[in-house]
Amino acid sequence: MMDRSPKSAYTLMTPGPVPVPPDVLNTLAEPMEHHRTPEFRAVFQRVMARLKDVFATGQNVFMHTSTGSGGMESALVNVLSPGDEVLAVVSGKFGERWAEMAEAYGARVHRLEIEWGHSVRPEQIERGLRERPGTRIVLTQACETSTGALHPIREIAAVTRSSEALLLVDGITALGAMPLPMDEWGVDALVGGSQKAFMLPTGLAFVAFSARAWERVERARCPRFYFDIRAERDANSNGETLFSSNVPLIKALDVVLERFARQGMDAVHARIARLALATRAAARELGLRGFAPQPSPSLSALALPSSVDGQALRSEMEKTYRVTVMGGQDRLKGKIVRIGHMGDIRDEDELTMIDALGRALMACGPAPSLDEHRLGAALDAASAVLAGRA
Ligand SMILES: *Cc1c(COP(=O)(O)O)cnc(C)c1O
Repeated sequence: MMDRSPKSAYTLMTPGPVPVPPDVLNTLAEPMEHHRTPEFRAVFQRVMARLKDVFATGQNVFMHTSTGSGGMESALVNVLSPGDEVLAVVSGKFGERWAEMAEAYGARVHRLEIEWGHSVRPEQIERGLRERPGTRIVLTQACETSTGALHPIREIAAVTRSSEALLLVDGITALGAMPLPMDEWGVDALVGGSQKAFMLPTGLAFVAFSARAWERVERARCPRFYFDIRAERDANSNGETLFSSNVPLIKALDVVLERFARQGMDAVHARIARLALATRAAARELGLRGFAPQPSPSLSALALPSSVDGQALRSEMEKTYRVTVMGGQDRLKGKIVRIGHMGDIRDEDELTMIDALGRALMACGPAPSLDEHRLGAALDAASAVLAGRA
């Protein structure tokens, strides 16, 4: 089998989309087949069973042909009634998106604003629920991808599960990247997306609901059609998706889930955690500090010195070294770089990225203490982590 097919023009290290493994690319290139063939039905059944392992749930996991935001919409509209009080954690772009979405559907949204880069504390959720005992839904990201911050989902769920409020978690950069056992922790709806740790192109969203959330699904009065999970459930029980199945992506997902099953989720998570540690060890040598005090393993947001223009840095990395990372959004534009650790990333990709980051830093700003020697130390630090020596 080819090692990497075909060679990508860029080393892709963003928090989505991510590099797709070669065997998955080959599957995506197979001739189209109809979703009502026995072969595809077998794939579909296998995928639906294995998704439960990634979610660590006994509940059914559902798929929509949509981006991740469609999964967020599905989780929301299936449990919401217009006028419901919603407590939304807003610690970055994705939190803002979910809050706006809930408003668009007629919820009374109370934003729990967290300084960007920081993580919400469970006591803040507790206080929010105490102040508004009628709160029906709590919305939060597991990882706020715009800042790299990880939120304490287990502790938040311990608060919500003893309240009337359902906990809806956007786990799009968490599922498959770190442990997030839905049933054990008591998460009421959990959302994933294909172009993050699932190592696929964009186009599938995953969502599951707890038993408690299902009671709400039956009574929720929010209008819904494409994302009506009751209709999806009925179709799934006949071995089909509600609308045309995304055959190529679902077949590719089957390959990814087979790999997850072979490696074990612990090993899948450990690989991502190791790439995160390698990046952070190198960043320290380069004189960069992490932006989030409690960072997610799925990406590293690194704060840039004010002397460095982050947008110039990002484009220098891409133009000169063919390495794609992300910059900051909105108020963080130019101030951070975000490096993804999900997807089919090899050790050599990681070192290529660090080399490009170091050289671009030297080219883009006064970085007086940074020189070839320090860059060498950064690469050594990362290599040691990757080799399990640090
Ligand atoms: C990527 C991402 C999404 C989904 O974005 P889409 O472009 O709709 O796929 C949602 N939430 C978080 C936290 C993400 O990282």
